[in-house]
Amino acid sequence: MKITAAKPAALAILITTLLTGAATAHGNKIPIGDGKVSTSPRKGYVMSCQTRFNPNAPGAWQSGDWIKGNYWYPSLKPTVDGAVSWSGGGAKVKVSGAKRKITGKGIPTHTTGVYPISKVDDAYKYDRNPNRIRTQKISLTLPAEPQQAARASCGPMGMIGVSLTGAAIFNALDAPGRDAVAHEIQDACSGHPERGGQYHYHGPSDCLIEVGRGADGHSGLIGYALDGFGIYGLSGGGGRHMSNANLDACHGHVETVVWDGKSRKMYHYHLTDEYPYTLGCFKGTPSASGQRQGQKSGQPPRQGGSKGPEAALKIAAQELRISAERLRRALGAPPPDFKSAAKKLGISASKLRRVMEQARQQAGF
Ligand SMILES: [Zn+2]
Ligand SMILES: [Zn+2]
Repeated sequence: MKITAAKPAALAILITTLLTGAATAHGNKIPIGDGKVSTSPRKGYVMSCQTRFNPNAPGAWQSGDWIKGNYWYPSLKPTVDGAVSWSGGGAKVKVSGAKRKITGKGIPTHTTGVYPISKVDDAYKYDRNPNRIRTQKISLTLPAEPQQAARASCGPMGMIGVSLTGAAIFNALDAPGRDAVAHEIQDACSGHPERGGQYHYHGPSDCLIEVGRGADGHSGLIGYALDGFGIYGLSGGGGRHMSNANLDACHGHVETVVWDGKSRKMYHYHLTDEYPYTLGCFKGTPSASGQRQGQKSGQPPRQGGSKGPEAALKIAAQELRISAERLRRALGAPPPDFKSAAKKLGISASKLRRVMEQARQQAGF
């Protein structure tokens, strides 16, 4: 993020961060979780179903000076630029009988960075995420009253939970099996898309929706894991900052939280600002169909028509909710006359210019 390009809110956060240092339990540095992958429940580790990783799998291809020795420094890490708005974001949650249905398009309620990462973005130097954010079909049926299983189970690569913003929650690992939060470059809301275009977080985000904060300062619910247990924010009862030391190997504990509008003492997970950030393992029984939906998203993007001016026109038309043909006619022969085109479409020239520019960057030319 360049300071000149930052939105006022992002700028305020940046300035606060510069003044105070990132407010983490470790001060302004966090131990890197690289190598902390296990095949059984282990505190501070990710119990991963995938045990072999390709060190050359796609991901950030270069680390910068925010990683020093065994630590990384959040305030020094670049952020993917942009503030792209989406429609149809959010997760719908409905309890009927013993089931909790969660549906959504996998699109967040908040703005995202411009993906693929633009060549002019300072983040491009480190991470050339070539994926475009795409809508997903999220349809989960989870137990409304989850139970702890006899044995904890491993988490898949891909979706391990859904946040109330509508975006997926992944475990702490990137494709080569490293600490994704330390290595991968995310946008101002700590999210980015994977190969199937699924936008996701690997850890805490400033943009999460938190529901039902406890009277004692316990964080509210930010989403659901695929086993049906709730995922809560960074604070435990009494407002104390959560870390692996307070949590079990799956990254949860039993404490009083607000659950479906009522105070209840029950098992739940926490986000932490230290690795593994989200879940270490599943304490309950994860939904098989949810894991399949998560796996399905790990596919290469569709080929053809996704790049170049034609794709940009389609993206822009979609954003403006008009047909590509109508936008093409309004723009006329190149070079485009934004002023006259905007007049024809009944919108402001600045809006048209902004939408076209974002579409151009998303179409990667
Ligand atoms: Zn990721
Ligand atoms: Zn708690």
